[in-house]
Amino acid sequence: MAVKTYSLKKDGNKYCSEHTQVYEMKSKDGADKVLIDEKLMEMIEKLFDAMKCQKYIITSGYRTPSHDKAVGGNGSGQHTKGTAVDCYFYGADGKIISSKEVCCIAQDLGFNGIANITSKYQEVHLDMRTSGKWYGDETKGTSNVTSDFYAYFGVDKAALYKKYGLAVDNSAELKKAIDDLKKENDALRKENTALKSNIDLLNEKIDNAKKALR
Ligand SMILES: [Zn+2]
Repeated sequence: MAVKTYSLKKDGNKYCSEHTQVYEMKSKDGADKVLIDEKLMEMIEKLFDAMKCQKYIITSGYRTPSHDKAVGGNGSGQHTKGTAVDCYFYGADGKIISSKEVCCIAQDLGFNGIANITSKYQEVHLDMRTSGKWYGDETKGTSNVTSDFYAYFGVDKAALYKKYGLAVDNSAELKKAIDDLKKENDALRKENTALKSNIDLLNEKIDNAKKALR
């Protein structure tokens, strides 16, 4: 996995993932160079599949440093590395999926940079930053707003997973339940051993009493 360099002129119509063509990731200042992170494309496909999407629209992909500055960035952010997209997703019903739901599922899939970026809660920013996390909501500024979008947006995980036919990973809870049962079993075994030795002791006493009566 690496960040690949494309030429808009030569590679524009090439697919860089199942649902993305190179030109969709172009810098909007018209630069020929387009940087696209393969891992980002792979993660977006996972998100796309999880939400059973019909399509997704990129509103901003790669940005040259000068274009990034022109649109209010600092000229060195994730978009300038080819590791970020701003986009919105259409569900199987053809409607735009709420960014609140997209943020929650992106969080579960392991994206480190995730943010709602519009007041309509339709568009998200997703990036592959490797140091730290940014879970943002640009309607509230550019700082980190939460460590859990479910809590932040008040989204019910079980209902969301049911809606998209996703399996909730409850392996941790199952492991704990098995461990608890094992402990209970061990305790019962010890109790059983103690009861057996009590019975042995009582039998011995009965034998002794019988001998005394002879
Ligand atoms: Zn962005």
